[in-house]
Amino acid sequence: MPFLTSRDQHSSELPVTDLTVDTTERVTLNIGGKRFVTSKFSLLNIPTTKLGKLSKSDPSYDPKNDEYFFDRNPKIVQCILDLHRTGDLHLPGNVCSTGVKAELEFWNVPEDYIAECCWKTYSLQNQDLKIAAIIDQQMGQNESQETNPSKPSIREKLWLTMEQPSHSFNAKVGTVISLEYFVRA
Ligand SMILES: [Zn+2]
Repeated sequence: MPFLTSRDQHSSELPVTDLTVDTTERVTLNIGGKRFVTSKFSLLNIPTTKLGKLSKSDPSYDPKNDEYFFDRNPKIVQCILDLHRTGDLHLPGNVCSTGVKAELEFWNVPEDYIAECCWKTYSLQNQDLKIAAIIDQQMGQNESQETNPSKPSIREKLWLTMEQPSHSFNAKVGTVISLEYFVRA
């Protein structure tokens, strides 16, 4: 049975079960030189992902070695394989959210499969990146206009926000809001 969670709005994409598929079949994946062995049964637990849809007609299939080769990050693939086995996606602690996001997109794994325990770190990292991108953009637009020495510069605000522990997430949001105001004014 495919894993269908309450947050899974992808169930409508599930294909009609193909009775000709041998679910006991072993599947070997060569991910950037590291081999993983799983079963077709596990992969079909989530048939909407790239791994769930794998077939021998896929360009990644190497008939000589009877394996699928992908030049991707094996750490993330390990986690994605566990998702197919257990229904929970836990992320490795040593890969940044940008790397994780790119891999999840490649494997066609929606972010909402990420388990609660890993979601907080992942989403906070993404939020920080978005805020940093906005600040970078504003700095580029306004750096030339910073002429008043008594007013903290955008660079100083950024420094306070990122470096001082007392400047919490709320402070970061405040900085972004003030930057938006600064631009619109
Ligand atoms: Zn976790």
